[in-house]
Amino acid sequence: MPVPKAELHLHIEGTLEPELAFALAARNGVTLPYADTEALREAYRFEDLQSFLDVYYALMAVLRTAGDFTDLADAYLERAAAQGVRHAEIFFDPQAHTARGVPFGTVVEGLTAALDRAEERYGVSTRLIMCFLRDQSAESAMATLEEAKPYLDRITGIGLDSAEAGHPPSKFRAVYEEAARLGLRRVAHAGEEGPAAYVAEALDVLGVERVDHGLRCMEDPELVARLARERVPLTLCPLSNVRLRVVDTLADHPLPAMMEAGLLVTVNSDDPAYFGGYAGDNYDGVRDALGLTAEQLRQLARNSFEASFLEDDEPRRARCLAEVEAYTFPAGAPGE
Ligand SMILES: [Zn+2]
Repeated sequence: MPVPKAELHLHIEGTLEPELAFALAARNGVTLPYADTEALREAYRFEDLQSFLDVYYALMAVLRTAGDFTDLADAYLERAAAQGVRHAEIFFDPQAHTARGVPFGTVVEGLTAALDRAEERYGVSTRLIMCFLRDQSAESAMATLEEAKPYLDRITGIGLDSAEAGHPPSKFRAVYEEAARLGLRRVAHAGEEGPAAYVAEALDVLGVERVDHGLRCMEDPELVARLARERVPLTLCPLSNVRLRVVDTLADHPLPAMMEAGLLVTVNSDDPAYFGGYAGDNYDGVRDALGLTAEQLRQLARNSFEASFLEDDEPRRARCLAEVEAYTFPAGAPGE
């Protein structure tokens, strides 16, 4: 069994495997512009964030009913559990669905049907985080937050995702202020393709408690010192970074330097169906490519629970952390 871990950066729409995409397409009478699962896998060869997003949004057409979202979440939870995930904070993109005529409530009800039984079925506790598409307007984000109000007992927090360049965090200041007023936790993608300044802006203007990606903070030593001092968690996604060409290869990933700098970094899968692996695959990837030791891997797993929003269930956090400490890594790992 892989080391127990929390996954904190996971887009549920990014867990849509080609086989499930075709099954849902058949169920809903949707014609996909790909001949078969092999042709679809071929389309998963991206050049950058935008070329990925084009396929990602096209495939969402197969998600129509609450049952589709339940099946999607169940498929993820089963795979994640097999890779040692014990707690998952799951992003969803309501605007990508409401824009297609799928009601907000259908999405949330479908996802929570799977999440509500995830602990019993898969041993995975869950939280749900709604993300705003940053390449859409601030007004659209505010309208989406308004739509979410009847469902806030099911939603832990808000995030910000999609195309980063040219869409600074400050564009969403009012939405984040309103979310804070509503008692929602706040995270945002920043410093993936956007500059280090977006990381600082997400902290200062949006009041985020955790930064998704954030690896370009390494371009600003003062910012690194601040993130380390304030213990701001960063949710890194190494396989995603390679596929979207944020780094050239896994061996070039700044993860070891970030750990060395005292940053509270975690390892996550982002959009695993598209980027070549789930949470455990990301741990294995950085272990092999970067020669991480068992103790460094244990630190990453420990960080993941510390960075999670388990404040409302400290006994579970303590149990998970105890499992991390008790875990024995297989002998002969690189770096040993
Ligand atoms: Zn992401």
